[in-house]
Amino acid sequence: MSKALFDDENLRYLINISGIVQGVGFRPNVYKEAINYNIFGWVKNSGASVEIDCTGRREDLKKFILSIIKSSPPLSKIETVRIKKLDYIYYKYFKIKESIYSSGNLKLISPDIATCPKCLTEIMDKNSKRYRYPFTNCTECGPRYSIINRLPYDRNRTSMKEFIMCVKCNEEYNNPLSRRFHTEPNCCMECGPSMYLIDRQGNKISTVDPIKETVKLLREGYIVAIKGLGGFHLACDAKNEETVSKLRNKKNRPHKPLAVMAKDISYVKKICRVNNKEEEILTGNKRPIVLLNKIEKGLLSKNISPNNKKMGVMLPYTPLHYLMFDEDIEALVMTSGNISGNPIQYVNDEAFKSLNKIADYFLMHNREIIVPMDDSVVKVINEEECVIRRARGYIPYALKIGSLEKILSLGGEEKNTICISGGGYCYLSQYIGDLDNLESYNNFKRAINHNKQILEIEPDIIVIDMHPQYKSVKYAEESELKKTKVQHHHSHMASCIGENSINEECLGVIFDGTGFGTDDAIWGSEFLVGNISEVKRAAHLKYVTIQGGDKSIKEPWRTAASFIYSLGLDPNKYLSNIEKEKIDTVRKLLNSEYNTYVSSSLGRFFDCISALLGICYEISYDGQAAIELENIINKKTEEYYFYEIIKQNGIYQIDYKHIIEGVIEDIKIKKEVSEISAKFHNTIINFTIQMLCILRIKYNINNVVLSGGVFENNYLLTNLNEKLQKLWFKVYFNKQIPINDSGISYGQLLIGGKLSNKE
Ligand code: ZN
Ligand code: FE
Repeated sequence: MSKALFDDENLRYLINISGIVQGVGFRPNVYKEAINYNIFGWVKNSGASVEIDCTGRREDLKKFILSIIKSSPPLSKIETVRIKKLDYIYYKYFKIKESIYSSGNLKLISPDIATCPKCLTEIMDKNSKRYRYPFTNCTECGPRYSIINRLPYDRNRTSMKEFIMCVKCNEEYNNPLSRRFHTEPNCCMECGPSMYLIDRQGNKISTVDPIKETVKLLREGYIVAIKGLGGFHLACDAKNEETVSKLRNKKNRPHKPLAVMAKDISYVKKICRVNNKEEEILTGNKRPIVLLNKIEKGLLSKNISPNNKKMGVMLPYTPLHYLMFDEDIEALVMTSGNISGNPIQYVNDEAFKSLNKIADYFLMHNREIIVPMDDSVVKVINEEECVIRRARGYIPYALKIGSLEKILSLGGEEKNTICISGGGYCYLSQYIGDLDNLESYNNFKRAINHNKQILEIEPDIIVIDMHPQYKSVKYAEESELKKTKVQHHHSHMASCIGENSINEECLGVIFDGTGFGTDDAIWGSEFLVGNISEVKRAAHLKYVTIQGGDKSIKEPWRTAASFIYSLGLDPNKYLSNIEKEKIDTVRKLLNSEYNTYVSSSLGRFFDCISALLGICYEISYDGQAAIELENIINKKTEEYYFYEIIKQNGIYQIDYKHIIEGVIEDIKIKKEVSEISAKFHNTIINFTIQMLCILRIKYNINNVVLSGGVFENNYLLTNLNEKLQKLWFKVYFNKQIPINDSGISYGQLLIGGKLSNKE
């Protein structure tokens, strides 16, 4: 047979591509390339992957396959490609087939994506049919996960199914050369969702342009609840001192920093210092809130992030936001639409009821949100993105794991997330919130069901924390499934080991607020040795007895009084701003051991020092006392307090006695509070290093993993990391998995997987 004849031979292949390949313009791209290379057959969504049946000449097929992989759309992410040779059959055309349903292994769904430059140009173009249309999107941008009910991803499985495409939109949808070819949420003014403005009584405000009207109201000092991608925001003019205070009062959020949305990157640079990495994230297609260092020039209200060097800023990410900032406004407070402590509101009627006492007006739309989602929060440490709250733009999040088990892990009590696995992958849910809030708890249950449904995983095992009072633990008790209990700080450690793919033994430093220990004490300054399967506790801060239960967390002065009392000193002498009777009561109750708990929590130790220095006696948001203690540091010092490491029953303990005495002494000689705070931070860093040096020799392990909510403290994390590296430790900390309790569910899941594999 001649070579020419052989080359002319028609072949047929079945290609299966998995990854983020649905809802990102993958099939249209395949179609275009097929036309390019004279390929016949079809492409379709299948489960969570894309299937291509293609026939053509050998050389053409080769080029076709290479091009669909190499020139895949920007939002897609290919995980695996499988190619199977089939017997040749004749196809007349190449076409995009209707989705069929089959369950595959990896289920990657695209997150919601910020408006792309092309769509932005269209909405600002007077001659475009989408001029000023706030729901404009295309294959490269727009809503995804927040509107999807089920897979495979098709319009009729999203909340866009209510809106029937008009003739023109339908043409775009069916035209392989259009940017909106098979864009499932495609719509326009004629056929898509619309916005309307109502007042607090529910009366529709008659206006030709509800967006312009909204900005006018914002400029006049009103608070407007605005429905966005993942839920409602409460918005007000960030420059208006009075309105910002009003918002804080009404929302019952006196101190916790409020997020700001700025007009553009150049305005962000007027209010904050921005490095290259931060700019890249701010202007990227995920558009999270980025924590930046403030420039105190008085451009914005002082009340946005009081007692904090940082401010959370984001840029517009939907057409609606761009249209708002097209008016004469530069910065808006855009805080989640809720009453403090409650989850973000996302259903029109409920939001109207619940936010009625806060908002003066409501800018609503009629597209349903299926999965409520907050804005994500990130910061940059050493040129790397560290995610604090994983939600819009970052969820869903799939990670490869070593276990094929179907597992559901329920996370912690605060900053809850859940995680579910099947087929060798696990999926971390969006940030859900604090489960002692009933509405958050309902969202938690909804998230479990939604994840099971959309991922088609019926778990066999549930992994939970050891804390008997956690709502997630009580939820699990109602289930018949096999349960695995995992210690809180082991979960933190596993989350860091897993994220960094460490296969060796590690020394874990887990600095945290609250975690139930295996001895029923409340842990939180744990030096653990081990791996994902098991750990041994090697050291911790010496136990202290704290009075007041949950109240001690809300009122750091109680914790301070408890610490001081444990040293045999009179707390009244050192907490002179607190009423004597209150302290005497705590003292009495400590004496009779009423409502007390034993704790090694480092979070509480920070609270103690913060109260002792008069920085924060009572908190109104999680971690406030420690955050304000860190933020008061204004210059570098290498000074630190004396401390002692003792050994008891084979476990090392860091005695806090001399540290507190040192602080008290410095207060007496009127040393600056900022210096005392720096010295205290340095002390924590120093004893951690010394402890790790001891453990490195004892266990011959050089890997250190840092995790736990206390490490949200930048001074602590960056200085400790730097000093450990100088001592040749290999240091890891969480980056994409939150270092706080939002990362717990991922750690739990990994431990659950390892334990079930062992059996
Ligand atoms: Zn677009
Ligand atoms: Fe924790």
